[in-house]
Amino acid sequence: MSKDTPKMICPKCRVEMNHHAEKLVDPVNPKEAAQVDPALGGLIEEMHCCPGCGTTESRRTR
Ligand SMILES: [Zn+2]
Repeated sequence: MSKDTPKMICPKCRVEMNHHAEKLVDPVNPKEAAQVDPALGGLIEEMHCCPGCGTTESRRTR
């Protein structure tokens, strides 16, 4: 996990969300395929959870 990665902000509460998990996902389009980590064979998707309302959001790392 990179320390300079900006925190995700909850769309409802506008608070910083907690990064609680990562999973390996397959690329779904050519743009994502170009970003695949050859060592992993996929893309890392970060899962973030809001401490306020419990909403979960995910995003792809690059
Ligand atoms: Zn929230």
